[in-house]
Amino acid sequence: MSARFYVNLPLAPGPFHLDGSEAHHLATVCRLRPGAEVCLFNGDGREYPACITQVERKQITLEILRVEQPERELPFTLEVGAPVPKGDRCQFLLEKLTELGVTAFVPLLCQRSNTHPRESKREKLERYVIEASKQCGRNVLMRIDEPMEWAIYASRTHAAEMSILAHPHQAEQLTTLAKRFKEAKVIRIAVGPEGGFADDEVALAVEHGWQTVSLGPRILRVETAAIALATIVCGV
Ligand code: SAH
Repeated sequence: MSARFYVNLPLAPGPFHLDGSEAHHLATVCRLRPGAEVCLFNGDGREYPACITQVERKQITLEILRVEQPERELPFTLEVGAPVPKGDRCQFLLEKLTELGVTAFVPLLCQRSNTHPRESKREKLERYVIEASKQCGRNVLMRIDEPMEWAIYASRTHAAEMSILAHPHQAEQLTTLAKRFKEAKVIRIAVGPEGGFADDEVALAVEHGWQTVSLGPRILRVETAAIALATIVCGV
């Protein structure tokens, strides 16, 4: 796959000027020169192979050659809700969920969450998604929703045909739900904070049709639980 660069602008065949951090990445980090072929994308589901025509200090000129639309998205909608873990673990989580093809990430605020909303600054989270999309070839960005209180998220009307809550205690084994995954077109999964979901948070979710599932006898960290569950749902 050619090196990929993200721009937040409409794209079409013809000349295109790239500047800012992506131009720096192309010229200084990747050291690409005129004649090299790269790929531009803007999250519209397509990608735009382009040839570099000129490299200046702050601006790159390219010729967009054609438009392609490879299928790299999941055949269903997958929303993942979890408290935002701190620092590198947050980057790791968003990177992996993007690679797995998750449609949207919802930062959850639970009774026992201790992440400050600053941790979940949208711009920073979106940057992780863009970097992962450049690497994995996704042409649709994973959406980052506004942080949401668990009680509101769990009880709001949603198009999900399956809502799955990871809970280490008294939960159903995931395998027994596998057949239902295959049929659902919209799935949402939720993982609790390091302190776990409070009993009344689980009860509220169950009342609203959430299915609790176990991921085995060991306690996983938030990002491990979210990635493991997303992987299982994507893979069946
Ligand atoms: N001390 C907490 C564990 C929290 S781990 C407790 O005992 O409940 C953080 C979150 O990861 C949990 O809320 C749950 O959503 C998920 N998780 C971790 N390990 C899990 C497991 N074995 N099965 C299901 N969910 C798990």
